[in-house]
Amino acid sequence: MNPKLSDRVNEMATSATLAMAAKARSLKEEGVSIIGLSLGEPDFTVPEFVKEAAIKAIEADYHSYSPVDGYAELKKAIAHKFKRDNNLVYSPDQIVVSTGAKQSLANLAQVLLNPGDEVILPAPYWVSYADIAKVAGGVPVEIKTSIATDFKITPEDLRHAITPKTKMMIYSSPCNPSGSVYSKEELRALADVLVNHPDIIIVSDEIYEHINFSGSHFSMAEFEDMYDRTVTVNGVSKAFSMTGWRIGYIGGPSYIARACNKMQGQVTSGANCIAQIATVKALETPPSAIQYMVDAFKERRTLILSLLADIPGFKTNVPEGAFYVFPDISYYIGRTLKGQKISSAGDFALFLLEHAGVATVTGEAFGDPDCIRISYAASENDIKEAMKRIKEALAEATH
Ligand code: PMP
Ligand code: GLU
Repeated sequence: MNPKLSDRVNEMATSATLAMAAKARSLKEEGVSIIGLSLGEPDFTVPEFVKEAAIKAIEADYHSYSPVDGYAELKKAIAHKFKRDNNLVYSPDQIVVSTGAKQSLANLAQVLLNPGDEVILPAPYWVSYADIAKVAGGVPVEIKTSIATDFKITPEDLRHAITPKTKMMIYSSPCNPSGSVYSKEELRALADVLVNHPDIIIVSDEIYEHINFSGSHFSMAEFEDMYDRTVTVNGVSKAFSMTGWRIGYIGGPSYIARACNKMQGQVTSGANCIAQIATVKALETPPSAIQYMVDAFKERRTLILSLLADIPGFKTNVPEGAFYVFPDISYYIGRTLKGQKISSAGDFALFLLEHAGVATVTGEAFGDPDCIRISYAASENDIKEAMKRIKEALAEATH
């Protein structure tokens, strides 16, 4: 807290994923052996066809400001992708390209929320949703779930959470951090509740769409009665391993797209021009071109689940998508490990960092204080070594 700073930033939490990654990075720099499983970031390189498109864009002298909402050719490629993969028809005036899906989400909160507006967040939710909503004056309303329901909400849960002040609901499917995927039937059941509340905007974050082992992905906007009030968020960070290239986008009602364009025009302008041209190539390419990454993530999921099953006190669901496991570690809360009292999942994550040299993220940051998040977007060797170290650190501690 620094009184010279705004209340807005003083009250804001630091991104727990980025904070843990920074901590792990600085310990590594000090020479400590740390296995970083905190950040959700594919360890693959960018596909060659995307790199070539970026190099060509530089050689073709792309250098100037793009239109704020993205190049026309990129919006065309996004429209094509939405039709091809999601059966969604969005015209260019319904699409806005941003500096990562994180900015897409921040734009939406800024243009849709007034102070006091409630934002429903099925928990666990992605770490930044709550603070993105709060900084725009919104009030997060969490719906708790647990491993028993595969971390998914039911229509009853949703009905109970809605009040006259509800303005928005944000969820991700596949979900970061639980890996849960809502089926078409489950989304229809939620939509049946939402149809009675036409003023609620649904923000469907589909950034893990392709990293899905269940074989089917469904978008809320595919339901005709949800289309006009749903904003579909996506990006190339995860599927194309382009996290640092910073391209995200939305498809949604044109009045919302126009407002995001206006907001972005005063904050950052158009996203990086070279990355936009490379994204055209990424999105024009059929998803089969990135299947090798999805296959590798699936194998790593099997590996990490089998290794975790061998560590006492870790309960997991079977994640159907994304690249995280979100084990319930409440068994350890209240215990003393190596003389250290573990009072929270945060304490437990710090214990793993200090005594096993493994960086994970506390579930508190995702709205679930019983869990920690482990990213398995890492090499098989790192996953094996990390689980071995965790097992050893905890085995000694429980003696
Ligand atoms: N949504 C979810 C669920 C995520 O995990 C991420 C990861 N950073 C983002 C949005 C933002 O992605 P980016 O800004 O890299 O496009
Ligand atoms: N989405 C990733 C994660 O959840 C990246 C970090 C971030 O942007 O917060 O770890």
